[in-house]
Amino acid sequence: MFVDSHAHLDSPDFQPDLEDVLARAQESSVEAILTIGCVGPDLRSAEDLLRLVERYDFLYASLGVHPHDASCFTESLGAELLGLVAHPKVLAWGEIGLDYHYQHSSPQQQRFAFRTQIELARSCDKPIVIHCREAEEEVCSTLEQEFSEDTPRAGVLHCFTADEATAARCLRLGFYISLGGILTFRKSESLREIARDLPENRLLIETDAPYLAPVPHRGRRNEPSFVVKVAEELARVRGTMREQIGALTTANFAQLFNPGRASSGQISD
Ligand SMILES: [Zn+2]
Ligand SMILES: [Zn+2]
Repeated sequence: MFVDSHAHLDSPDFQPDLEDVLARAQESSVEAILTIGCVGPDLRSAEDLLRLVERYDFLYASLGVHPHDASCFTESLGAELLGLVAHPKVLAWGEIGLDYHYQHSSPQQQRFAFRTQIELARSCDKPIVIHCREAEEEVCSTLEQEFSEDTPRAGVLHCFTADEATAARCLRLGFYISLGGILTFRKSESLREIARDLPENRLLIETDAPYLAPVPHRGRRNEPSFVVKVAEELARVRGTMREQIGALTTANFAQLFNPGRASSGQISD
């Protein structure tokens, strides 16, 4: 019924009780989770993540070098990643993008890692998962250079918090928009207005767990079962039922990421 299209299950926060976290997700009708592997200078963490998703039918992975870690990105790391991304349960490349809020890596390093990984993802036909913070204009213009209009399975802007114009530019290229816990925050009135009008065939929901827990869990550890709270808020904003939001975001997830291609894919759509 629900899909969490962006979580970080390899976070140390989940180490003590991951089994329980996953059990609660299943009890809450979360039928698939895309867990994001942020690859560092060596690929060990990515290999650990692949072992995790192999153990559970309803887990899938995405791999990429996050803009925070762009300083460690090299062409040879990209080539090694290309090998891992061929794993049948890796549905996407990312999260990649630009983050000018923290600038853990320089803008030049971030640009190089972003563009190179877009090209790598396209070379193996994977949608990209985009992280964008305080870099909307540059992310949009980069995507406009790299993607033509209505590109099928282009990717998703995760944890969307930008404005309507940014959404429109990315939608035009074929991107999906994923909404997370921020949608439930009291001050997110303008985001709720945008969410109300987004086309229903491009909507996804996510937790970004362990970060950004939705109300009423705000400030505590987030987990995939809380994606239901995002669905409830999105349903309220759009004047529909959470089951309907669950059904359409699950169908959109299947459309974009094609989990049926994964060897032990279970998503029903
Ligand atoms: Zn992110
Ligand atoms: Zn993330």
